[in-house]
Amino acid sequence: MRTTDTVRPAGATLTVDLDAIGGNYRILVRELAGVPCAAVVKADAYGLGAAQVAPALARAGARWFFTAHLDEAIAVRAVLPGDARVAVLNGIWPGLEAAFVAHDLLPVLNDLGQVALWQAHARQLGRPLPALVQFDTGMARLGLPPAEAAVLAAEPDRLAGVDTQLVMSHLACADEPGHPLNRTQLDRFWALRQAFPGVPASLAASSGIFLGADYHFDLGRPGVALYGVNPTPERPNPMRPVLRLEARILQVRHIDPGESVGYGAAHRASRPTKVATVPIGYADGFLRSSSSRGHFLLNGERAPILGRVSMDLITLDVTDFPEAHAHPGAAVVAIGDARPIDAVAADAGTIGYEFLTGLGPRYARVYRGLDRAA
Ligand SMILES: *Cc1c(COP(=O)(O)O)cnc(C)c1O
Repeated sequence: MRTTDTVRPAGATLTVDLDAIGGNYRILVRELAGVPCAAVVKADAYGLGAAQVAPALARAGARWFFTAHLDEAIAVRAVLPGDARVAVLNGIWPGLEAAFVAHDLLPVLNDLGQVALWQAHARQLGRPLPALVQFDTGMARLGLPPAEAAVLAAEPDRLAGVDTQLVMSHLACADEPGHPLNRTQLDRFWALRQAFPGVPASLAASSGIFLGADYHFDLGRPGVALYGVNPTPERPNPMRPVLRLEARILQVRHIDPGESVGYGAAHRASRPTKVATVPIGYADGFLRSSSSRGHFLLNGERAPILGRVSMDLITLDVTDFPEAHAHPGAAVVAIGDARPIDAVAADAGTIGYEFLTGLGPRYARVYRGLDRAA
């Protein structure tokens, strides 16, 4: 084996460009044209590391943050400036009220039971408590269903003692600009917010921001676009790439026509073939559905994935590369500027969201732009 310039104890290196995330935040701010922009950092900032990503977004100007769970919010709160507001999308359960207050977090109230719970806690403390109220306008997932929204509009006292800082809803089809449900949800949200005069409203996540000003209301709520995934799948990606996933070739071997590669002998060589083995597998979130689909980049050229993705390893076809490029220790790029996460995901039969959030904790992580953290 040749000597390499860097030897790491992990298999592959995932580099997260915090400057690019800040740049993406500013692209979304420009698109929102004066409407404030939140940052969704649920699922550990889509798997990229909320402890590094959330402060970078605060430095870029974000003041509203969203997580899915309370424990995510507690972790994020600890790394953010005191004036940041952190909201929990999945709402509140009985018994968690004190933790929300202790950590200065806002529950997203998703049904009348949660409204009553938060109101009771405000009464008990003898002061108003801040919260968000979410309406279901057509996704049938989270938020007050239409019948409960009507009750709340008719009986506003149910929110007495609750400092309602935002009313929100979520679009089901924002990545398809022509889908009729977008307009339907917009109209329903307009009608619902009439019951909350003066309360800021929020409807658009990443893709919704690109549906135009009608969808912007008072706060954009992007997640995935911050991390470089294309929020406009029908058009070129307006976002900057954020990730680089790189590994070094472990071994190169030559096989004869008729010999097979990997589990299940899923690839059988039809010509003399040179196979490079790299230390990334499905245990690293590199989906097994990428087997025999897609490619890595070696010296900027395509090296196709050959045979099955296994737990810790992937085999690449490097037949057409000279030994000077395809040798143990040579760097290959699985995700990078010239190999976008959206394309990697498409080759695996899924979307950028899933590939991104699945990358997992196994890589050596490098954060670029962290020097400006202080
Ligand atoms: C995840 C989520 C977002 C962010 O969505 P992206 O498509 O990643 O921008 C915004 N709002 C709600 C309610 C969400 O669940």
